[in-house]
Amino acid sequence: MLPASIMAGELAELVARSASRTAEFTVADCARLAALVARCSAADQSVIHAVISFAADAEGRPLVRLQISATLLLECQRCLEPFAWQLDEQAELRVLRTDEEAAEVGEPMDTVLLNEHGLDVAAMVEDEIIAALPLSARHPDNSGCQPGVTVLADDEVVEEAVRPFAGLADMLGQRRPS
Ligand SMILES: [Zn+2]
Repeated sequence: MLPASIMAGELAELVARSASRTAEFTVADCARLAALVARCSAADQSVIHAVISFAADAEGRPLVRLQISATLLLECQRCLEPFAWQLDEQAELRVLRTDEEAAEVGEPMDTVLLNEHGLDVAAMVEDEIIAALPLSARHPDNSGCQPGVTVLADDEVVEEAVRPFAGLADMLGQRRPS
C-alpha cells in the first residue's frame, strides 16, 4: 500500500518524535515509474521498500530522510530483455511550506513542498526512484548480452541473434491490467 500523505500537524509531531515509518508497495502502485520499467507483469510486481524518517535541521525546520530499496526489472537497452537492477537510494529532503520559502533556500538542496494537501510521501519516494534510474539501462558489460539486430555500415541487417525469451515480455505485457 502506498504511504499516505502527511498533514502539517502530523508532520510537526513526527519531527518532534524523530519518528520513522516504513512502507512497502509495488511498482504497479506508481504509474509514472511503471511506465519506465520493463513491460512485463513481473516488473510491475517488484516490491519497493521505503523507510521514511523525520528530523529537524539546525534551525528546527522539518527534514525527511528516505531509504529506498528495491530490485527493479528494467529493459536492457542492448538486448531488450528484462534484467534485475538493484536500487539502494538514500535522500534527505528539506520540507518547505510555500514556493516563497523554496526561493529563499540559497544553496541547492533537495526540497519537497508541503501544500494544503499535506506532504505527498508516495510521490516523494517515486520521484527519488525515477531520479535514480540509470539513463541507459543495460546488463553489466561482462554479461554477454548481445544486440538483437546487428546493422552493417550500409544499413543491411545481417543477423538477428537468437532470443528464446524475446516473445515472453510482450506476451506478459498483453496480460497487464490496463
Ligand atoms: Zn542485455
